[in-house]
This record gives sequence, structure tokens and C-alpha cells, in this order.
Amino acid sequence: MRTLRYVLLTMLSVVAISGYSYSEENQDLLFQVSAINALLEGVYDGDISYGQLKRYGNFGIGTFNSLDGEMIGLEGKFYQITAQGLVNVVDDEMKTPFAVVTFFEPDRTVLLPETLDYGKLEEYLDRLLPTKNIFYAIKIEGVFEYVKTRSVPRQNKPYLPLIEVLKNQPTFEFRKIKGTVVGFRCPLYVTGINVPGYHLHFITEDRKAGGHLLECRLENVRVEIDHTLQFYMVLPEDVEFYKADLGKKKHQELEKVEK
Ligand code: ZN
Repeated sequence: MRTLRYVLLTMLSVVAISGYSYSEENQDLLFQVSAINALLEGVYDGDISYGQLKRYGNFGIGTFNSLDGEMIGLEGKFYQITAQGLVNVVDDEMKTPFAVVTFFEPDRTVLLPETLDYGKLEEYLDRLLPTKNIFYAIKIEGVFEYVKTRSVPRQNKPYLPLIEVLKNQPTFEFRKIKGTVVGFRCPLYVTGINVPGYHLHFITEDRKAGGHLLECRLENVRVEIDHTLQFYMVLPEDVEFYKADLGKKKHQELEKVEK
């Protein structure tokens, strides 16, 4: 909290120079907790609560302290998808070691014209974007032909690196299912900080299942894209984060854990 307040005050002084307005209600800003390299290194505890996070967005993805499942936030409600495949509504007191949120306001809406798998969906979306150098929040809603997700099992200390944990990741498959995909497309230059390219999570319409999106086949879904020019990051005031070696190049490791 102290860190958060300090960074916000620093940010306010920057605002006067840049002309951009920063406030908790800023609608067009991507707000991120910690760096993806910390998660890869096994830093699974943070000091930002979901109560705090909600002030910076009503839409997003992330995880929980002790890596206790996948998070998806939609229309102001945040959900935890556990390794058992259960969905819980997130308590404000729960904390996150990594999360990305924004206030979702689509700049572009399209209906998917053909059946696409995940790879083709990425190519299709890329063609819709005015540039690959800014951030995008992405929401996809409708009936999904096929969806494969995974979650992550809660960890005990000493924590293993993420690539080790995910050797035993539980996966879930859905066919002809109504639901929503929530996530982001980050520029390739965010390596080390966030996931370059697409990072998407899924939740069913009945809010009873979901997870981190691994594979999909889509038709007749609505895609909404929110162009986001402002990026804001808060780092944990945490001894494990301070000690972690976050300078290593982890592109291949990230490919393995996120795809
Ligand atoms: Zn994920």
C-alpha cells in the first residue's frame, strides 16, 4: 500500500508535465501488478489486494498469492479458477503476485466471419489492429466450438519456478460452450515485463468453469477490442521480489508456460 501510494504521488507529478490525466477512474489505462519474469522465477506472493486492484479496472487477468489458480475479471466481478476447475468469487482481501486490469471500453467490435483456431484468431486480430506497438484489451463473447484451458495448483514454499509447476498443469476441455474470453495483446517489446502477444483467459457463461486459454475453435463470436495507450505498473514491496534475478532472457520459457 505504501508503495502504491508513493508511486501514485510520483505519477501525479509526471502528469503535470505530460498532459495525460492519471486517476483511479482513468478509463484508458492498463494497470499491471509486478513483472512476468518475477512469476517465472517463482515469486508467487504480492502485496496488492483485489480490493485495491478493483479501483484500477473492471476487466482483467492474473493469478493469486501462492499461485492459487487463474484469475479472470469481467464487468467488475473477479473470479478464481482453481486447479480443481472450480470457480470462486474473489474476496477483496485476497492478494495477487501478478495481474493486469483496465476499464474495458471497446473501440472496435467485429463478428468473426469464419471458424478460427487460436493461431488463426491471433492472425485475424492482428490484421484488425492499427499498430502492434500499443496495448489492447480483448473480449470475445459467444458460443465456442471448442475450448481448452488450464489452471495452476496452489504452491507451498519453497516455491518452484513456473516452468516446473506447469509440468503438472490440470487442463479442462469444453465443447459447444457459451462463455467469454478476457485478455490482452501486449507489444513484443514488453518481454520480461508482461507476455508479448496475446494472453487470454476464459470463463463459461454460467461462471462455473474456465482457465488460462490454451486452444480454441471459434465461430459466431463477437470480438471487442479496447485500444490502450497508457501503461502503468506497480511493483511488490516484497523481499522475494527484491532478491529475484529478473534480468535473464526468458522468451522460450515464457512461450512454454503461456502457450
Ligand atoms: Zn494466464
